[in-house]
Amino acid sequence: MLLSGLIGKMHTHLSMGLAQYQLPIGAKLLMMNDLIGQTIRLDFNGQIKCASCGTLTKKSYSQGYCYPCSQRLARCDLCIMRPETCHHHLGTCREPQWGTDNCFTQHVIYLANTSGSKVGITRKINTPSRWIDQGAVSTLPILEVDSRLKSGQVEVALKNFINDKTNWRKMLKNEVSPIDLVETRDKLLPKIQTLVSQIGATTLQNEVLEIKYPVVEYPSKISSLSFEKTPSITGVLQGIKAQYLILDCGVLNIRKFSAYDITLTY
Ligand SMILES: [Zn+2]
Repeated sequence: MLLSGLIGKMHTHLSMGLAQYQLPIGAKLLMMNDLIGQTIRLDFNGQIKCASCGTLTKKSYSQGYCYPCSQRLARCDLCIMRPETCHHHLGTCREPQWGTDNCFTQHVIYLANTSGSKVGITRKINTPSRWIDQGAVSTLPILEVDSRLKSGQVEVALKNFINDKTNWRKMLKNEVSPIDLVETRDKLLPKIQTLVSQIGATTLQNEVLEIKYPVVEYPSKISSLSFEKTPSITGVLQGIKAQYLILDCGVLNIRKFSAYDITLTY
């Protein structure tokens, strides 16, 4: 079989605790879980098309956009990465309506075990996809707030006590020890109690969610594949974790190659 077209970040959902991956390619959505154990080939056709305006771009900015769009779209602004710097109230949001629709909605602050414990935030509507995208093996939502700004304020406060980054190499090698996230939550929440009541955050009493990944064999050494270095990649698909295809010849971060025109043969 052969499929061709622009690829995008894989769509993810959970089924019986197992992460399911679908790759958008052209107009199709390909169930990637079905290809595990098979040899696949990915050829870069040399074109990158902006995911917003569709024009050709030499380089992809903000994971799939042309340079002008990366400067124009609110979703590419720095405040998305650092929500505590939200400037909507100053009237300087790049797209005020997009901001209202996306940033002034329910957000969740969660703990996760990706390569150790970490704190993160996400729109409530994006769970559990966000956790799968990060390769979390377990996760526990702890607080809910009504804006992205507030979730950022909580995250900043918690960063004094817990990591907010993932060591992606450890995550991909599955060098992850079990962590009691309930115990972590119960230690952390009292430390930020003042902020929690100030911003009116709701304390959640969720159970820990465990996430399994479709991986037959984790790599012992990580080598990163890229279409710039290797326009034609062939290998056995040994698994998928976070947004990475784990091939016997290296790992490929699909998210990084959003808006690339690819031919996939399997
Ligand atoms: Zn564009």
